Amino acid sequence: MELSNRFRGCLLGGAIGDSLGYPIEFMSRRQIISAYGSAGLTDLIVDDVSGKALISDDTQMTLFTANAFQLWKSTVDRTDAGSLGGTMPSISKSLYKAYQRWLYTQTGQIRNKSWLERTIAEGRDDFILDQKELFAQRAPGNTCLSALQTGMGTMEKPLNNSKGCGGVMRVAPVGLYYWRDPVKAFDVGCKAAAITHGHPSGYLAAGAFAMLIALLSAEQELPEALGAVRSELEKHKDSGEVTQALTEAQLMAASGLSSAKAIAALGEGWIAEEALAIAVYCALVCADCERALVMAVNHDGDSDSTGAICGNIMGCILGKHAFPIEWCKQVELSDYIVRMAMSLLP
Ligand SMILES: [Mg+2]
Repeated sequence: MELSNRFRGCLLGGAIGDSLGYPIEFMSRRQIISAYGSAGLTDLIVDDVSGKALISDDTQMTLFTANAFQLWKSTVDRTDAGSLGGTMPSISKSLYKAYQRWLYTQTGQIRNKSWLERTIAEGRDDFILDQKELFAQRAPGNTCLSALQTGMGTMEKPLNNSKGCGGVMRVAPVGLYYWRDPVKAFDVGCKAAAITHGHPSGYLAAGAFAMLIALLSAEQELPEALGAVRSELEKHKDSGEVTQALTEAQLMAASGLSSAKAIAALGEGWIAEEALAIAVYCALVCADCERALVMAVNHDGDSDSTGAICGNIMGCILGKHAFPIEWCKQVELSDYIVRMAMSLLP
């Protein structure tokens, strides 16, 4: 399969999973079943006003992660490395700037006004802040908002002790961009999440997820890729919880337990390693995208984040064409999401 199909599938699949789960994010499985029937919510809910299935903060922030690479490339292109003594601008700084732009969409505030300016590489007609849908508030995570209002967290100097899933759910573009260098994907995935999430499991889950996306983009099989991710995790301090969560996802997938019971055993997905584990479990037990996403959202926990992560994984494995055409059309900002995916291609 073409790399571009995997990239488009990854970001569009994430958006579809996010929009499927968003209406039921704060509902228990029992409430979902009483509202939608025993199979749960199985189709996108289309907004009356826009005629689109709404994406939430997970996809919005994922798009800003992708925007960081546009920002970074334009900065690198404009910088004479020689004049800086060989020091190139860091991707971490671009990620921070891009997330500040996201903060601006949600609060009208930004720590540095010049970071709103257009850049040459983004092109005049496709600037991220021209997408008015990104200014809609769709239950943005408090940790992300408060951390970005404070400054830039790093693994060495964390801003908080949060391991909410707000770090992991947004880093798929890191895995796509570094698809030829999975260890780099791991490192940058951790850095991207540590900007807002200071607990090791909060950023190591993001590193693991970005590396997984890189390996899948390079056509590794999911179980093999998970093995490589676990080996990388072993090299990092305080990685026990994330490794354990991934191990449990694989054990549950092999257990033959019902998906409802298996997911309940893995957690609710409000925290990073649980969100990753639930998404990985659904990808392991489902051969098709539609089934995987329905499974990934119909539970007690953070449905849109587990749906988004699962959609990223399934789309990367099977490509854009593996999702129902209707869903690809209905999901909000679908054309822009596809263009963003293409911008990450080498
Ligand atoms: Mg959300």
